[in-house]
Amino acid sequence: MSEQKASTDREAREPGFSTRAIHVGQDPDPTTGAVVTPIYQVSTYKQDGIGGFRGGYEYSRSANPTRTALETGFASLEGGDRAFAFASGLAGQDTLLRALLKPGDHVVVPSDAYGGTYRLFNKVLTTWGIDHTIAALADPEALRAAIRPGSTKLVWVETPTNPLLGIADIETLAGIAHDAGALLVVDNTFASPYLQQPLSLGADIVTHSTTKYAGGHSDVVGGMVVVGKDIAVPEYADAADRVAFHQNSMGGVAGPMDSWLVQRGLKTLAVRMERHCDNAERVVEFLTGHPAVSAVHYPGLESHPGHEVAAKQMKRFGGMISFQVKAGEDVAAKVCGETQLWTLGESLGGVESLIEHPGRMTHASVAGTELEVPSDLIRLSVGIEDVDDLIDDLRQALDRLG
Ligand SMILES: *Cc1c(COP(=O)(O)O)cnc(C)c1O
Repeated sequence: MSEQKASTDREAREPGFSTRAIHVGQDPDPTTGAVVTPIYQVSTYKQDGIGGFRGGYEYSRSANPTRTALETGFASLEGGDRAFAFASGLAGQDTLLRALLKPGDHVVVPSDAYGGTYRLFNKVLTTWGIDHTIAALADPEALRAAIRPGSTKLVWVETPTNPLLGIADIETLAGIAHDAGALLVVDNTFASPYLQQPLSLGADIVTHSTTKYAGGHSDVVGGMVVVGKDIAVPEYADAADRVAFHQNSMGGVAGPMDSWLVQRGLKTLAVRMERHCDNAERVVEFLTGHPAVSAVHYPGLESHPGHEVAAKQMKRFGGMISFQVKAGEDVAAKVCGETQLWTLGESLGGVESLIEHPGRMTHASVAGTELEVPSDLIRLSVGIEDVDDLIDDLRQALDRLG
């Protein structure tokens, strides 16, 4: 290959995921050469004469350089147009929804949505006149049935879902939503941008709780909204401008320290996710062979109803597993309290492995609703410890109690 041809090829190819995670938006600091974007712990900026902003920075709710670095990098990782960082996943979701919807609009919400997202639709947005229908989106026909022509403006999708690891076909659902004139929004928290890129599958907007895999170290709460380059519904072509306006107007922004922590997490996202997946596969193998276990939910299992769709739209199957125990609810709850290495706690996506009982913990608020989860269910967030230690710990708990 001639040198000229080689360099043209290099220019044509977009840098890989980890290169972008480590470099996009993060040029060495122009004044000192610091290789890491500093934590600009500051609220206001000196103006060179009235309105003479340096780099556009005026006040840190509107923009802050540490947040800008994170937003620029994250937009690249999801293949989006612009990204907006928030103080929590729910702050981002609320801002997005109020930026796009108005009273009288209707949305479709998945039957196994994250509990806090469901609460936002069910308890907060209903009082602002935004109506919703719950649909089991693993089946695209359920979306067709739930759409109200003319008033459905947005379809919310989560895949894989929490805690049952249900899978929805993003490309198919995007087609159905767009035919009805509705946007498709994907909460990509469980997969992370490393394993799944919804915008490339036709979604219009992606949201994250960066508290989870993006931050990855259980040391920060944050959210992200990424608006795609091609919004399929003309009415919302200005979605990025609307979110930008509402981010500043409503003010739920990510602070400089939190932005810095999430960006630091992203730099190792690819290596962490590979290890989460390696470990999860081994834990799944152990659980499926254990006599106390009645069912294992993991999209990597060929028996999982969404396996084929997951294999098509995800790079690997992720670090979240849930399983049911034959002995029922009380034993499930006891197992969660009897592990040593697996920490009993809510949240997910950190380097440390977590165990929890969704029915009594993360999903207690949806008991008695269409989103209720099985009472004998245990959810695992598989960390990146040595997997033999993780398996030994589960074995001692299940052997004794199961
Ligand atoms: C945690 C979570 C959220 C909410 O994010 P916060 O950062 O806790 O506000 C939304 N969606 C999913 C899938 C989550 O796991």
